[in-house]
Amino acid sequence: MTILCCPSWCVGHTALPEDPLDGVMHYGPPAVLELSRSARPDVPDVLTVRLAAWSETASDCPGRTHLDVSISGKDGFDLSPHEARELAAVLQSQSVQAEI
Ligand SMILES: [Zn+2]
Repeated sequence: MTILCCPSWCVGHTALPEDPLDGVMHYGPPAVLELSRSARPDVPDVLTVRLAAWSETASDCPGRTHLDVSISGKDGFDLSPHEARELAAVLQSQSVQAEI
């Protein structure tokens, strides 16, 4: 497969051959946080955030970039850049309140 149009931040991509569009998901380098309040303290959960963008075909340039968020490799959720900034603001505000 020839990828003609990777985003500058792409460090790897996954082709989904079962997808009828035969598209490609581009991924940025992961930011990984070990969570201290895991269900099982002996097996800490890991929060992973990375940039991602979908190309409809291997030769198409990707669409809008989003943030892919998952916990311990399970399916997570996607955030737009605006949603990520809103979430960051909420986390900042409430984390300060939590330490009062
Ligand atoms: Zn790529």
